[in-house]
Amino acid sequence: MAQQEGVRALHTGLFVNPVGQRRTAFRQACADLFGSLRVADGAHAATCPPGEPPADLLVLDLERFEPGIDLPALGELVAQRAGRPVLALCPFTAARWLPALMAYGPVDYLIGPLSPQEIRHALAARLAGGPAPAAAPQEAAPAELADLAALLAVCSSAQGALAEADDGMCFAEHLCAALLRWPGVLHGAMFRLHDGADLRLEAQAGSLPEGQGLDLAGLLRRGDRLLQSPLRHAFPGLLAAASGEMVLLDAPGKAGEPELAQALGAHGVEMVLGLPVPALGPGAPRGSLCLLFGHARPFSRAQFAAFDDLARLAAFGLRMAELSRENETLLGRVTQLAATDALTGVANRRHGEALLEQEVRRARRYRLPLALVSFDIDRFRNINDAFGHPVGDVVLRSVADTARALLRSSDVLVRSGGEEFQVIAPHTSAIDALRMAEKLRAAIEQADIPGCDHVTVSLGVAQLGEAESADSLAVRTIAAMARAKRAGRNCVELAMQ
Ligand code: GH3
Ligand code: MG
Ligand code: MG
Repeated sequence: MAQQEGVRALHTGLFVNPVGQRRTAFRQACADLFGSLRVADGAHAATCPPGEPPADLLVLDLERFEPGIDLPALGELVAQRAGRPVLALCPFTAARWLPALMAYGPVDYLIGPLSPQEIRHALAARLAGGPAPAAAPQEAAPAELADLAALLAVCSSAQGALAEADDGMCFAEHLCAALLRWPGVLHGAMFRLHDGADLRLEAQAGSLPEGQGLDLAGLLRRGDRLLQSPLRHAFPGLLAAASGEMVLLDAPGKAGEPELAQALGAHGVEMVLGLPVPALGPGAPRGSLCLLFGHARPFSRAQFAAFDDLARLAAFGLRMAELSRENETLLGRVTQLAATDALTGVANRRHGEALLEQEVRRARRYRLPLALVSFDIDRFRNINDAFGHPVGDVVLRSVADTARALLRSSDVLVRSGGEEFQVIAPHTSAIDALRMAEKLRAAIEQADIPGCDHVTVSLGVAQLGEAESADSLAVRTIAAMARAKRAGRNCVELAMQ
């Protein structure tokens, strides 16, 4: 059989895997491809005994090895090979083994799961002089330099996306468009974990015109809450975001989801890479980048390093977008605090003055009526004296709440002084404002106030005159309010023009 396949049966081989069954299966399927084959259950057993020549080919079957535990020892095996061929059999869910092992020396790889027969087939091709493992993509070959130049272009275009990182969505879209410049990429996507549990497709870009290309939201059967997608164990973009591991599927069929493989195949996708986007610090966003390629191809150490740069850049962009969003929220909160009276929650005097100026300008420009109502709690000093300041504060809050509940959404309630309030009422004539003031008066008089029965207010009402200033309008309502006080309190007075 070996001769039929044209294999030079003089090679010596060494196969390493911790599981006895896998060693036996490999021996049964592939032993006759080698002049002699040794199997070992780990790095220690695989170390070449002194005086014995190293095997011509080292096959590292990474299934069941743990990068966190086994990398240093297996890496040392690679280093000891001093450039002799190493073939890694790497599960598609654990692609981070590949750049990690390549840091120790040249490594060729096959992505699993593969049946023993598929491994035999690939090995036979290699031993018969297929792609020479020793020339495995450790250093950039001349043909690869063009590729690397293209990768640089991708990275610099992705860096350009950072300029838009104050808007997370724009950044994601720009970054996905940049991924399309990666040689062989048909489609690029970014997934993002929200609140640690909700994975969403943030953006995607394809090389085909809109509507003709792949739509990952449709393919994955939902655009959000993707951790619940039935394809979460199979699709590299989802797996990488959920597990934080690089996932490299070099034939969609290997993921064990025939429908997914068929859909990807129908769009010419032969390889899918999922790159985890790390969280920059606790609570920072994380997710994944997903690249869908038109052809399966091996990656070199330099290419893996470029992928790593890209993922970091994405993480940085996401963090910037997040910070920018947090800043906006904080700024909004500060602005709101600066404009709000702390005791009652209504607009404070300064904000009220600015709003009144603005409404006066608007009323003039559009020739609309504008009314101002001022009101003041009657005998408030007596309430403070009789029940104490804390009860006085409760009264102020109750009066503000009662008034706010009565007003239209376009009216603005302002605490203009100690126990004085204003209502700025756009689109409101003097007659309507009088009605509103009377409603306010009655409602406040009837409101139950914890700790001090009832209070009353005296109100002044005025409509903005033609060419009148905001100051003059305010002075006239206060004068009307003073007349209401003089008239016996708990009543409404209309200002003179
Ligand atoms: P009038 O009917 O003429 O308006 O009588 P009045 O007692 O309400 O008027 P005056 O302006 O003499 O008194 C206002 C009082 O409001 C004085 C001040 O102690 C009290 N005051 C102002 N701001 C606050 C506050 O934030 N909390 C409390 N509890 N009292 C306040
Ligand atoms: Mg008062
Ligand atoms: Mg007063």
